[in-house]
Amino acid sequence: MNMLIFIIAGLLVHCVFLASIFDIYFTSPLVHGMTPQRTPLPPPAKRLVLFVADGLRADTLYELDDNGTPQAPYLRNIIEYKGSWGVSHTHVPTESRPGHVALIAGFYEDVSAVAKGWKENPVEFDSVFNESKYTWSWGSPDILPMFAKGASGDHVYTYCYTAEKEDFGAQDATKLDTWVFDHVKNFFQAARSNQTLFSKVNEEKVVLFLHLLGIDTNGHAHRPNSREYKDNIRKVDEGINDIVSMLEDFYGNDGKTAFILTSDHGMTDWGSHGAGHPSETLTPLIAWGAGVNYPQKVTFQFFEDEFLKEWKLEKWKRLDVNQADIAPLMASLIGVPFPLNSVGILPLDYLNNSAHFKAESMFTNAVQILEQFKIKMTQKKETTLSFLFTPFHSQMLRRTDVTTLYCHHNLSSLCMHRLRLLSDTEQINILRKARSYIHQEKYHEAVSLCKTLISLALEGLSYYHTYDRLFLGISVVMGFVGWTSYVILLIVKTHTSLTRSTHDKASTVLLLYGFAAIGVLIAFFLLIQTCPWTYYIYCLLPVPVWYAVVKEFRVIQDLASLLLVFPLGQSIGFLVAGALGIEILVFSFFYRSTLTVGLIAFAGWPLITRLWAQAKVTTLCWTLLCLLLAMFPLMPVVGREPNISLVTVAGLVILLISSFFLACLCKSKNKYVPKKDLTILLFQMLSIALSTYVVNSTHSSLHHKQGLPVINQIISWTTLASSLFVPLLSPTFFFQRLLSILLSLMSPYLLLSTGYEALFPLVLSGLMFSWIYMEKEALQHYDDSLKPKLAVLNFSYTTDITQFRQLHLDDIRRSFFFVFFIVTAFFGTGNIASVNSFDPASIYCFLTVFNPFIMGSLLVWKIVIPFVLVSCAFEAVQVTTQLSSKSLFLIVLVISDLMALHFFFLVKDYGSWLDIGTRAVTWE
Ligand SMILES: [Zn+2]
Ligand SMILES: [Zn+2]
Repeated sequence: MNMLIFIIAGLLVHCVFLASIFDIYFTSPLVHGMTPQRTPLPPPAKRLVLFVADGLRADTLYELDDNGTPQAPYLRNIIEYKGSWGVSHTHVPTESRPGHVALIAGFYEDVSAVAKGWKENPVEFDSVFNESKYTWSWGSPDILPMFAKGASGDHVYTYCYTAEKEDFGAQDATKLDTWVFDHVKNFFQAARSNQTLFSKVNEEKVVLFLHLLGIDTNGHAHRPNSREYKDNIRKVDEGINDIVSMLEDFYGNDGKTAFILTSDHGMTDWGSHGAGHPSETLTPLIAWGAGVNYPQKVTFQFFEDEFLKEWKLEKWKRLDVNQADIAPLMASLIGVPFPLNSVGILPLDYLNNSAHFKAESMFTNAVQILEQFKIKMTQKKETTLSFLFTPFHSQMLRRTDVTTLYCHHNLSSLCMHRLRLLSDTEQINILRKARSYIHQEKYHEAVSLCKTLISLALEGLSYYHTYDRLFLGISVVMGFVGWTSYVILLIVKTHTSLTRSTHDKASTVLLLYGFAAIGVLIAFFLLIQTCPWTYYIYCLLPVPVWYAVVKEFRVIQDLASLLLVFPLGQSIGFLVAGALGIEILVFSFFYRSTLTVGLIAFAGWPLITRLWAQAKVTTLCWTLLCLLLAMFPLMPVVGREPNISLVTVAGLVILLISSFFLACLCKSKNKYVPKKDLTILLFQMLSIALSTYVVNSTHSSLHHKQGLPVINQIISWTTLASSLFVPLLSPTFFFQRLLSILLSLMSPYLLLSTGYEALFPLVLSGLMFSWIYMEKEALQHYDDSLKPKLAVLNFSYTTDITQFRQLHLDDIRRSFFFVFFIVTAFFGTGNIASVNSFDPASIYCFLTVFNPFIMGSLLVWKIVIPFVLVSCAFEAVQVTTQLSSKSLFLIVLVISDLMALHFFFLVKDYGSWLDIGTRAVTWE
């Protein structure tokens, strides 16, 4: 019963801790209730054509090939003679959905939106499409419905191909783009004969959106340096040329069409995206047509990157924007209101319009962003006690800025403080000032004043967005620290002989009343602030947790007195070692090479203890395998350099090992070997051999563009299914069972491998075998009475409870090893970013048609296999060392909770996980 309560409480604490991360860091930045703002002057364009080349990198589009000819001749011509160009900087996560939302709705979605689903809108949002009179869109079913669904009324039309078309194995992915171009042409052909459609497309404020997925698909399948990726760019270039002349023809060259070409995100050299590497965040932006500036020749322009020279575009002014700035740019070109939640700043340099128009547009932009700030502030003010409310105070605006602002704009009557606070009167004053500048035709001053206002409002928006973060963070950390302390006390109390606890009834009751009073006080405090219900959970959870901790004050007393007796140097040494261990684990999430450091330390571990003298061969094996495994985290992330021959090598090595084992099994005459066991072993060897063959044949067949052979697909799926139950048939003796598990899991792992990672589980399980031996030796080292004989140990023994021994310090090391190996199993061959944006090549043996669910499941299984190996080894260690699994589990829990606590402080918003993952990539 007690155990059940403990498990439920533990689950609750962990769930709340996890959920709080989303509530504290990843809350939707959107507010509702703003009024639409649009520029009062007539717009330059009647219609806008938006081309989004999914996954197109800026440098691949702009650079010249070896002969000095451009990748996209038509677009190059536009940069040089017709329009404006630049680099659009995207935010992490560099995925299609957040990229398109930034482009079309003007705000940056956070990770939670991505996590909550791709096709559904987690929150309603406004977009340029929604503000348009009509929008017609062509492209992928993963992207288009999202904007049609968010739009009010029936004015956003979508034309998608089916999901099955997105086959990136055998078929030619450029067909995805030609499909779009052909359908646009047919659509306008039909519009000529259909009167209602004709009048619709001739309306003002019309948007045509062409989503071109071919480049992204080719990039994933063949990598951005491939012939296929570049050929696809050329195809898109030709397609755009056709569409532009078709449209000019259709509209009789009325000069009222604006064109924009950009992409949602880039792509790394190894064909992935999702993180923040420059190859992923730098996307092209080319605009031309009605209302867009002509090329501006410059003699000198400075950018920190060296791209201009590489691209030979030094002479044409490069105008960089943030991705969300494209939304107000589009809105201003066709004269629709800026999307309500847009945080984009209109890139004025792109506009070919009067100074008056630019000033008015900037004014509208300022009012539109200020509206969001006002609503956000009101919301926060309403839910906070007035004496606790700390209004926004700009940190970025320095004293000198404010002074120049006052002198320059003659705002002397206002005090500096109020501007930095962005108070209501101050907003009105600045807007009034800007308005009067426009009246006096001082457009330049109006623009600069509006820009200041925008940056202040954006800073204020993020201030109120993160307003509760500190307070919530403290409560959640309090609860979690309490929980971890409780688990430590529990270990000390029930699994060691350190204390003899007796309960004092009277003081316990007093404690209960005390804590209940604190709880009521907190609840009352939250109630008068009308906090959301989740806040009650975060703030009230620490109360019962700390009650449970304080209730055990006798154990705390005993522990404290014991620590005082302990030599100071030793306890400090122990603490430092523990902290170092946890830090190594945490850092390995960001820099995989930390694992190498840890593994080298592990290799040296038996040498500094007496284990070396005790068992030389085992120690040697352990040290060698540790060093071998230490090489894996230093290698590039999985999938970057496919090398099928390494997979073959891994397959052959396993076959060699298993035949060696088979020979041993047959030779041992004194032991009786059941025929069934031999059959299973032979079956598993056959399955390994088949998998090795299938990987080779599939990849060579795909290389020759012959698609995935059906027979290979059948073998792959059968192998996967059989690997799940075959090990259960094997004998329960230690090594036979462990070997059987390894053999079974290796065949699907081989099928899912494309390179060196195929060798990883092999080395890992080698190390696990020697770990089991090492732990046996370590145990003898401490206590000679316990001498388990590994050969006779059996998993199916139900261990007698009296056999369990008390915990000692070495068990903490044992548990730490387990956690470390689990982390190694995860990061040995990849990092967080590589999990997010994996290489589809690794699942080609199973399917080549895009199916997120099956692909995801297969990838997860590939990641889980090393975990299973480590967990089985730990189970073996636990049986060998005769420890209760409960106490070991509790120690592992404390270690992982300490790590989780550290991570809590490392979380940042805007897709930090991927950001961190990528920083690791760039460091490597
Ligand atoms: Zn994309
Ligand atoms: Zn993609």
